[in-house]
Amino acid sequence: MRNSTSSLKMKGLLVLTALFVAVFGKVTFEGDQVLRITAKDAEQISLLKELPEQTLGLDFWMEPVHESLPVDVHVPFHSLQAVRAFLAYNQIQYNIMIENVQDLLDDEEREMVKFRAFPRSTDDFVYTTYHDLNSIYSFMDMLVAENSMVSKIVIGQSYESRPLNVLKFSTGANRPGLWIDTGIHSREWVTQASGIWFAKKIVTDYGRDPALTDILNKYDIFLEIVTNPDGFAYTHSSDRMWRKTRKPNPGSSCVGVDPNRNWNTGFGGPGASSNPCSQTYHGPSAHSEPEIKAIVDFVKSHGNLKAFLSIHSYSQMLLYPHGYTATPAKDQTELHELARKAITELKSLYSTAYTFGSIITTIYQADGVTIDWTYDQGIKYSYTFELRDTGRYGFILPANQIIPTAEETWLALMVIMEHTKNNPY
Ligand SMILES: [Zn+2]
Repeated sequence: MRNSTSSLKMKGLLVLTALFVAVFGKVTFEGDQVLRITAKDAEQISLLKELPEQTLGLDFWMEPVHESLPVDVHVPFHSLQAVRAFLAYNQIQYNIMIENVQDLLDDEEREMVKFRAFPRSTDDFVYTTYHDLNSIYSFMDMLVAENSMVSKIVIGQSYESRPLNVLKFSTGANRPGLWIDTGIHSREWVTQASGIWFAKKIVTDYGRDPALTDILNKYDIFLEIVTNPDGFAYTHSSDRMWRKTRKPNPGSSCVGVDPNRNWNTGFGGPGASSNPCSQTYHGPSAHSEPEIKAIVDFVKSHGNLKAFLSIHSYSQMLLYPHGYTATPAKDQTELHELARKAITELKSLYSTAYTFGSIITTIYQADGVTIDWTYDQGIKYSYTFELRDTGRYGFILPANQIIPTAEETWLALMVIMEHTKNNPY
């Protein structure tokens, strides 16, 4: 009797477990670590490049490129021994940045649950925590309802048919535009969270901050907060570490394209991958991703964008074109000086130190990136930000850093927008 009861219980438990995985199925990262590897020379870098990424399930948060830059790699628990042995054998130095990835994600989740609420206005909205897609989309709708200067433009649909929403801040007709996007890489959660904060900041400061008021009296601001909504929804439902789009790749079991390698400037070059399983897969053709094509169409049909600011995390950098070629952008001197001003202002608030320069000289060759394409379209003030931090938490930046990150970034955005306004072209 006891036996059959317990076997029944056991069966019930198994069914429940299966149900749980089916309903709440999320990749877990228990025991996974993020290692910071410090290669001492080119030989060690090339050894790191030869690590069988796919077999070991490695995810390079910062890829091996040059011995002057750290290499951050997320190593699944089952590969830790092999990777450690490899590093020891080759006498490559490293330290553990994140002891247990799942612990950080559990903290993040607890924080989100604590503040889960249904705000009735953007004043009630909790800016100090991370939010899911529905919550962000309803934030946008509230902001539009509350402010006559804000409207929502749907520039297209994602692969999974989600609307691609852009907030337009406008105080008059026929104005040139300034563009800001966040979250094109879905796991860079501090960027979407900062985007939400920027949106509220704009409506709060208009009429109060003379500098922003002046900008908005001459320019419209376009803000796409969730630039990769399918990826973002997936980071909440299934895999917190998802970076790419969610479009399947024919002939491969790997899903998604790197939306920051999919643009038609330098498309398909060596600074991107042709392997659909890679985190930097460029996709089957330029603008193959609907999320990118929608922005391309918008930029072209608007025809009068004067600044394009595309926001990523992490590594605390402010970057300008080019990524695909070492040939300096024709406006390099001005872009460089403006970047210096912007990061100086950013640093004034919380002493957060940024590096800056062109993409190819500051990080590595990257082909088919957003700002090379927008610069090509004649948008002189094209910049990419890499927000906090420098790797302590990487993509899992604790929620208590959202507001400080957004605040300091806003200072840099203001510098660039003001300069754009003061230097019409
Ligand atoms: Zn990114």
